[in-house]
Amino acid sequence: MKEVRRDWEIYERMIARLMADQIETDLCVTPNARVAGRISGRSRQIDVLIDARHDTDNSRRIIVDAKKRKRKVDVTDVEAFRGLMEDVGATHGYLICPVGHTRAAEKRAQMAVSICLVAFDHIQDFDPSTWPRCMNSRCEYGRVFWDGYPEMTLTVAPFDPTAVGGLRTLGFVHRVGKCDRCGRFHVHCTTCDDTLSIPEDDDADIGHRCRCKLPWFWLASIEKDEEGSKSAELHAVMGIDNIMTIDRRAF
Ligand SMILES: [Zn+2]
Ligand SMILES: [Zn+2]
Repeated sequence: MKEVRRDWEIYERMIARLMADQIETDLCVTPNARVAGRISGRSRQIDVLIDARHDTDNSRRIIVDAKKRKRKVDVTDVEAFRGLMEDVGATHGYLICPVGHTRAAEKRAQMAVSICLVAFDHIQDFDPSTWPRCMNSRCEYGRVFWDGYPEMTLTVAPFDPTAVGGLRTLGFVHRVGKCDRCGRFHVHCTTCDDTLSIPEDDDADIGHRCRCKLPWFWLASIEKDEEGSKSAELHAVMGIDNIMTIDRRAF
């Protein structure tokens, strides 16, 4: 079987891309997320989930729903979306629609929901099948969605101590992101062009390093916030006391 992507799925990914390109870098974006509903107790599908990137803290959660239909968003859609927001603890929501919304929908949206019009035909210029393939062997046709670009720095001393300039700081830029089907974390090092796949649920995993062999490595784990909500977290381990959370995916 070959990779088949439906138009609505491409639309959802395009919205994820637009959001990731516009929000602050201390927030992370998960396309096609599944989050446990606090009220319903069910696993809820969320087109685009936006959470704090560096902390186990889901108190500023934003969710995005791309409406998969060719009629206007109405008051019932907004009410269903507000119910979803409450269930997953989102403080703000974006309801994206290709054909506009009714006046009643706008009233019901109030401050908590932003209704945005994004034309469906924009997907002609957008192709997620050009993204890197997911490296999880159990994942079929997943693609990696990059949404973070952390730079690690390394301070190096010249070999010759009398050299002009003394200590130098070198920067190593990475891309981090998640598979849009299974959610697996991936890290790409732009220096050596290595791509790493980092599982969060493997207790035997002791970490991953790119071909640069620099003094840091990548490791993922599952963490809980104060209310008991779980998230997978990707860490850059720079030293015993220097572990940074670089990306997250709540579930
Ligand atoms: Zn995958
Ligand atoms: Zn590297």
